[in-house]
Amino acid sequence: MAFDRFGRNINYLRISLTDRCNLRCIYCMPEDMTFRPRSELLQDDEILRLVRLFTKIGFRKFRLTGGEPTVRANLVEIVQSMSATPGVDMIAMTTNGVLLDRMAGPLAEAGMRRVNISIDTLDADKFKKMTRWGKVEDVWRGIHAAEKAGLEIKLNAVVVRNYNDQEDLVDLARLTLYQPWQIRFIEMMPLGDVSDFQLAGSVTEPEMVKTIEHALGPLTPVNNGELDGEARLMSLEGARGRIGFISSVSHPFCASCNRTRLTADGRLRLCLLREKEVDLMTPLRSGATDDEMMDILKEGIWWKPWGHQLDQDVIPLNRVMSEIGG
Ligand code: SAM
Ligand code: SF4
Repeated sequence: MAFDRFGRNINYLRISLTDRCNLRCIYCMPEDMTFRPRSELLQDDEILRLVRLFTKIGFRKFRLTGGEPTVRANLVEIVQSMSATPGVDMIAMTTNGVLLDRMAGPLAEAGMRRVNISIDTLDADKFKKMTRWGKVEDVWRGIHAAEKAGLEIKLNAVVVRNYNDQEDLVDLARLTLYQPWQIRFIEMMPLGDVSDFQLAGSVTEPEMVKTIEHALGPLTPVNNGELDGEARLMSLEGARGRIGFISSVSHPFCASCNRTRLTADGRLRLCLLREKEVDLMTPLRSGATDDEMMDILKEGIWWKPWGHQLDQDVIPLNRVMSEIGG
């Protein structure tokens, strides 16, 4: 098992499969984003070797993300190989859903269990504005395909002031009255080149709660307000689904953090909102043995920072969100 120096057991890995994306969400990356050459990204066999080594130090849950994980070549084969790896108990993915229409079935067959699908608004024009060119109907088709394939679904929306913080937020929340889904509203986090925009447009959980309650009535905490993963769950009266708030900025959940991240270019990112990383690519490509690699992983995890320092105006600037995986 892998512990950090604060006694947290770290057993959940989020893998950014690529920094590329078929959208350009305004809160995630600049429109003229340049991507890394493919040779600088982890190759399939390198990812699979690392997954195997992570299972040996006690990791059980793996989430594929990006950039957009569905644009990675051989995604289905990667999932198949991961699910055949002893110790891998759960494979999930965070996706914009655009390509799920054709990929949900093969991914479920390959062993994927859960998908978190990002949809920031139900309004076609606003969706286009927030993603710079996306079509919301593609995401809807993806959601239905994922349901049909038997994948567990959660929906994610990043809330941005003056874009989707009013009626769009309410329309998404209203969906839980009719659908048994969990819809999670995410406080926008500041990272990299887009941090000025992100800081200016950030909406906190209390503001979101107020807007939803004003339109749809009181929200009641679920599970006595205990976190479900990183989300605090609430429900509207008579609702079939749940509303979650991921409030990394206003209510950080560092004490219960059990995760670490693998960037597409092979760095162990110990905390999403801290720049500290451990280079895994160099030892991987220079012939380190499994034992040496596991020592590097355990040592890195030991030094995982406690949490972010946004309240002290320390903003991680070395990467944008799509390079780390969210
Ligand atoms: N492309 C996939 C997607 O959009 O779901 C996966 C990668 S994306 C970086 C992972 C998650 O991070 C998504 O739910 C996205 O909405 C969220 N995200 C992106 N930028 C963010 C920001 N600045 N603050 C908070 N969440 C953000
Ligand atoms: Fe792409 Fe996801 Fe970032 Fe949007 S949030 S630009 S879909 S990686």
